[in-house]
Amino acid sequence: MQKNQYLVTQSTKLRHKKNSYYSRMKKITYSKILDIINLTDSTYLVKLEKNNFEFKAGQYLVLNIPGENIAREYSIYSPENGATIDLLIKEVTDGKLSKELKYMKIGTRVEISGPFGFFVLRDRESVQDNHYTFVATGTGISPFHSMVLSNPQLRCDVIHGIKFDEEAYHATDYPAGSYKACTSKEQGIHYHGRVTHFLKEQKINRDSIYYICGNSSMVNELSGYLELEGVKPENIRTEVFF
Ligand SMILES: Cc1cc2nc3c(=O)[nH]c(=O)nc-3n(C[C@H](O)[C@H](O)[C@H](O)COP(=O)(O)OP(=O)(O)OC[C@H]3O[C@@H](n4cnc5c(N)ncnc54)[C@H](O)[C@@H]3O)c2cc1C
Repeated sequence: MQKNQYLVTQSTKLRHKKNSYYSRMKKITYSKILDIINLTDSTYLVKLEKNNFEFKAGQYLVLNIPGENIAREYSIYSPENGATIDLLIKEVTDGKLSKELKYMKIGTRVEISGPFGFFVLRDRESVQDNHYTFVATGTGISPFHSMVLSNPQLRCDVIHGIKFDEEAYHATDYPAGSYKACTSKEQGIHYHGRVTHFLKEQKINRDSIYYICGNSSMVNELSGYLELEGVKPENIRTEVFF
């Protein structure tokens, strides 16, 4: 078997395992799609009925289209006390669920399970006394949007890697002056370049607590760099989307 074919088979097996793990782990509930709002050509917001679903900002849920066994994880974009569960989703070229969901009829019921994950502000920390640095690429901004809206007094910097300025979704929802877009494919509203370059040009605040979310190469590169710069490993928390 070719190496690529082997990897695809392994990742499909892993997905099947994950899907049945999720269905065993948490009760599956049904939730109606209330709205789908296109933010750019490829990114959209899905608003789901909240019912009795409770979560901590930063957690994710697993969404499945009934009748199809393609469960996928999505971080929750809306605040803990929001009236709906909002998900910020990028339509992935050659993807499955992210493509199908975008065109679903309003009112369709989807399966959700969760919440899952530990990428949250930790209870035992006095959240108001800390400074947080949130670093995201693309839809990796989702957990931070929920954290900030759930904790209006949060002291934080939000550093968002995007390709084009139009991806600076809801930038005014973050505390005044805290949101910095790092735009890689055009001049950009704040900084032209990748988040990793931006941070390497700054003096690293060793007292801040770093939360990093997005693609694995950015997460790995940045967490390694921060550790080298003297940030304590327990103050570097990560979530990888793909
Ligand atoms: C904990 C967790 C939370 C997540 N939260 C979100 C979220 O809030 N919003 C969101 O859009 N996605 C999120 N994802 C990714 C999501 O689960 C799916 O992988 C994604 O929607 C693609 O699913 P698909 O069925 O369309 O494509 P698939 O057929 O599953 O994947 C196709 C390919 O696209 C790659 N891929 C996955 N996501 C992206 C992306 N954003 N950009 C480019 N390539 C990608 C995959 O690695 C794969 O190679 C999260 C993943 C995890 C593990």
